[in-house]
Amino acid sequence: MPDRNKPDNNQTTDNRPALTIDEARDAILNLIPQTTKTEMVTLLNAVGRVSVSDIHAIHDIPAFRNSAMDGYAIRHQDADNNRTFNIIGSSLAGHPFTKNLAEGEAVRVTTGASVPDNASAIVIQELVERNADVFTTSATVQENQYIRNVGDDINVEQLLIASNSQLTSADAGLLAAQGMEQTEVFAKPRVGVFSTGDELCTPPNTLQTGQIFDSNRTTIQSMLKTAGIDSIDLGICRDDPEDLQRLMKSGTDYDFLLSSGGVSVGEADYVKQVLENNGELLFWKVAMKPGKPLVSGKLTNGAFYFGLPGNPVSSMVTCLQFVIPAIHAMSGATYKPPMVLQAKCLTELKKEPGRFEFQRGNAKVEESGELTVSTTGLQDSHVLSSMSQANCFICLEQHASGAKQGTHVSIVLFDSYSAL
Ligand code: AMP
Ligand code: MG
Repeated sequence: MPDRNKPDNNQTTDNRPALTIDEARDAILNLIPQTTKTEMVTLLNAVGRVSVSDIHAIHDIPAFRNSAMDGYAIRHQDADNNRTFNIIGSSLAGHPFTKNLAEGEAVRVTTGASVPDNASAIVIQELVERNADVFTTSATVQENQYIRNVGDDINVEQLLIASNSQLTSADAGLLAAQGMEQTEVFAKPRVGVFSTGDELCTPPNTLQTGQIFDSNRTTIQSMLKTAGIDSIDLGICRDDPEDLQRLMKSGTDYDFLLSSGGVSVGEADYVKQVLENNGELLFWKVAMKPGKPLVSGKLTNGAFYFGLPGNPVSSMVTCLQFVIPAIHAMSGATYKPPMVLQAKCLTELKKEPGRFEFQRGNAKVEESGELTVSTTGLQDSHVLSSMSQANCFICLEQHASGAKQGTHVSIVLFDSYSAL
């Protein structure tokens, strides 16, 4: 029995069924080692990076009992019968009042200010009648009302952040609240990106007949940047095995080398052959559209290589589904699938059974509250405007044959991806 999850280096004799996208991603992620390099970063630079070890709290939060409202701290048992209270002082945020309360005494408090040790309730200022240093209240008072207790939020030694977490703004705030200024994260992989193709042109050159401007490098590097990945621009490689080999040899300087174009079966498509001569070609047939079979490999100089398809939408989708998860895996992150929603499809969708399709759509919440989606139109893999105009993928299962107007389809909002 052939192993569907093992990369096959001889695609011409490969009769195995194509892998699903998840199977292909798992197979790739299984090959990517987590980096052993780490660095300290300031908290402002920590968001999107991945924690190296478990981080435990060293302070309770709140660290002292404090008021949740502007008002008066009292002993709750004193509050019966329209009681009059004497205000004996005030505790402002940052300026605590340190004495205890005697019966019938109160302390003016603001939000976040510490409360006297024996105060057991806050009466909010809207519910008192104050006259000079005296107030009365007819409000009912519950024990502990509007008091934030020590450790309500975080207890000393509690796990704050688990290792291998991709840090969020709230995580950075949690660490700041512990008095930390820096945290240890995995180092970023070094990524080089180039385009292949004799037809490619870049400004300030002007287009000659048959040429196009290179857009893939800009799209791919922008996606990487948006996903928190730094990349080096390696320019354009001609459809020339020697030029390609020269770039592959620069893999010593990178953890990942990414190219687009030159992976189909045309006579100018050299990526597979040159990769085979300079390392190990790993190949998976993936049943997805857009996205030709994914060419990837490991160069003898150590870099992982991904040869993305040349068509602009295909290169974006394969970068999103495989390359970015792979780069994130090296920097310690675990893959998190995006959230799939169900939307009523307002347009008919055409599809042949056989491959999972990422069609481009526009999702909207109607006035009724219903989530709907419509196609952006032409779905060919060269139509980059379909990505630019869309706000979601319409995800059509491998064996599905399109969708009728009015039926429900799965969608993933572009906002769910860190790269779009
Ligand atoms: P290829 O895989 O090299 O045969 O390219 C497939 C299609 O994608 C062709 O129409 C190419 O002109 C186009 N293409 C390849 N590379 C790029 C690029 N960097 N930017 C825009 N289009 C490209
Ligand atoms: Mg080409």
